[in-house]
This record gives sequence, structure tokens and C-alpha cells, in this order.
Amino acid sequence: MSTTWRDEARCRQTGPDFFFLRHYKPNDHRVVAAKQTCERCPVRVECLTEALDSERTTGVTSHDGIWGGYTPRERDAMRTGRAVSNLIATHGTYQAWLFGCRCDTCTQAASVGTADPQPEAA
Ligand code: SF4
Ligand SMILES: [Zn+2]
Repeated sequence: MSTTWRDEARCRQTGPDFFFLRHYKPNDHRVVAAKQTCERCPVRVECLTEALDSERTTGVTSHDGIWGGYTPRERDAMRTGRAVSNLIATHGTYQAWLFGCRCDTCTQAASVGTADPQPEAA
């Protein structure tokens, strides 16, 4: 049995109801509270990476829930490159691209380093 980032997730203490809300209005106190929990979470980057990667791979609009401190709408903006996350992500990495950076080095990294194999390499 290997441990995963989920073992260290701060939301293990609060339970999922804390993060899956009926709506995600920015000033709602439940949204604010969930985001504050994520901000102190040691595996925030891993959590956000998995959410963005999964959403990108499956091609769905965002999954429900706050992941890594971001609402579904905020993750949509990241995936489509309309917003760059202020989370630490080094340029030139797939992760930074997932987080919304579309600079040349991150775009290049994404083209060769995606988690899922490309169907045709030709
Ligand atoms: S970042 Fe937030 S949602 Fe993700 S594991 Fe941590 S507390 Fe849970
Ligand atoms: Zn970049």
C-alpha cells in the first residue's frame, strides 16, 4: 500500500460536504471557508493538478466541487488558459500549463509531457 496525497488532504477532517456546494458565489461564506482550508492544505498543488488533469482528459467542463482552492468556474478559466494561477508552478512544466500558463516553454512541455499518450505521433 502506497500513500497518496489524499492521505494528507486537509479535507479529510472536514468531509466532502464542505467542498461540494450548491453554488460557488465568490463571497459566500461556505466558499470562503473551503478556500481557506485549501490554502493551508499541504497537498494543494497535487489536488489541483489532479482535478485539472482529469477535467482536461475527460473533456468535461469542470467537475463539481472546490479542488485545490478553486471553484469549477475558476478551474475552467485555468484549463482554457484564460487565467494564470498564482500557485507555485515552474515554467516549462506540464503542471504550469495545466495551471493556465500558455508561455512558449509551458506549451512545449504540455505537447510532449501530457499524462495521457497521444493517439497518433506520426
Ligand atoms: S486542496 Fe482543498 S480540496 Fe484539495 S485536498 Fe487539500 S483541502 Fe482537500
Ligand atoms: Zn509558462
